[in-house]
Amino acid sequence: MNKHFDVIIVGGGMVGTALACALARKGLSTALLEPRIPEPPGEQIDLRVSALSMASHYMLDALGVWANIPTQRCHPYSDMRVWDGEGAIHFDSAELGHAQLGWIAENKAVHYALWQRASTQVNITLLCPARLDTFSQASDGTLRVDLEDGERLRAQLIVGADGGGSRVRQLAGITTAGRDYDQQALVTTVRTEHPHADTAWQRFLPSGPLAFLPLADGQCAIVWSHHSEEARVLAELDDATLGQQLTDAFAGRLGEVTVTGPRGTFPLRMQYARRYVQPGMALVGDAAHIVHPLAGQGVNLGLLDVAALAQVLGQAAQRRRPLAALTTLRRYERWRRGENRLMLQAMDSIERLFGNTLPPLAWLRATGLSLTDRFTPVKRLLARQAMGLNGDLPELARPTLSRNTPM
Ligand SMILES: Cc1cc2nc3c(=O)[nH]c(=O)nc-3n(C[C@H](O)[C@H](O)[C@H](O)COP(=O)(O)OP(=O)(O)OC[C@H]3O[C@@H](n4cnc5c(N)ncnc54)[C@H](O)[C@@H]3O)c2cc1C
Repeated sequence: MNKHFDVIIVGGGMVGTALACALARKGLSTALLEPRIPEPPGEQIDLRVSALSMASHYMLDALGVWANIPTQRCHPYSDMRVWDGEGAIHFDSAELGHAQLGWIAENKAVHYALWQRASTQVNITLLCPARLDTFSQASDGTLRVDLEDGERLRAQLIVGADGGGSRVRQLAGITTAGRDYDQQALVTTVRTEHPHADTAWQRFLPSGPLAFLPLADGQCAIVWSHHSEEARVLAELDDATLGQQLTDAFAGRLGEVTVTGPRGTFPLRMQYARRYVQPGMALVGDAAHIVHPLAGQGVNLGLLDVAALAQVLGQAAQRRRPLAALTTLRRYERWRRGENRLMLQAMDSIERLFGNTLPPLAWLRATGLSLTDRFTPVKRLLARQAMGLNGDLPELARPTLSRNTPM
């Protein structure tokens, strides 16, 4: 096996695997390290789903991955309805000239389709199961990367796509900042009395947001962010009692709710790495930033990191510039860090505003929601942001490269 690569990617989750596919398009050789062998989707839809933006769709399509995500595991939603006790806002894809606002996709199905695609690329070496132990700079300037099983690899560049607790980030001595929300997201699958109408529904409660996300088989995926202690109590309830709690919390908007799937809870925090790059090293996805899931942006931001880094590295390779040079990597950091920070701060502000029961703030958010709903330019801007269509989009995330772009 060739043990010298252009890039070693640590972490073969959705983001790391997408990066391997994107770099393969640029003709770069990569090794992808992942400890857990990805599984194909099972008979039942898994409890982990993500709202994927239009930009993520364009990108997965351009990478040749979209067509391999089963349609029963990836459902388009055309509307989004968000409300709290007083105000409400409605986004309609038709008003924006699109057939949908985005998709609700099973993580396992997206991940497996990415992994399958990566496994067919000659310039990607999948090392799985494999786990990073440590890395260091060799005297010739290349990187020495040691795996836990004792194997040693070399590369020009190492990329940390190894999630929120990133070992690459720790070994690089990069610190993080952020906030623990003392919340857990309870996730499960439900059937509702009234049809979901291809709409992503979200109600802001003082304890945290509750989302009903439409699935292809008519069911909904639930993401209920709650104070940690109460989330643990909810997770222990029997199906009938949890169904009743969901019906009540959603004020009967979709009628009676019946819990049909298993549950899981995930601790919520906002976290950002103080730097994304240093000579020979870059961070992408959750290794660089973790965002509250209230607007379903985490993996979408990670995929935009991938598209930007692949573009920067592709240009460097074309101009025969070193991939590991700080001047190359800083272009990526400048491109993505500011945009990600803005999104993290926006989600954090929304969480604070809606989690507060003080009357002036309750008035502000109710008025804000209703005013925004009536003020088309702001509403349009917000919708395009959520669809991933604002800002300086990398070429891979633009509709032009996508081979099958429903507009
Ligand atoms: C409840 C909830 C709902 C969410 N909903 C949405 C949504 O609707 N839309 C959205 O865009 N985002 C959503 N997110 C966020 C999204 O799930 C994450 O942002 C995304 O999964 C991060 O992907 P990643 O590949 O960066 O990291 P991860 O998925 O954490 O992958 C990291 C990988 O690195 C591997 N790894 C770790 N250590 C090592 C090592 N030492 N060596 C080798 N490999 C290693 C791990 O095995 C893993 O496969 C949600 C999150 C939560 C908690």
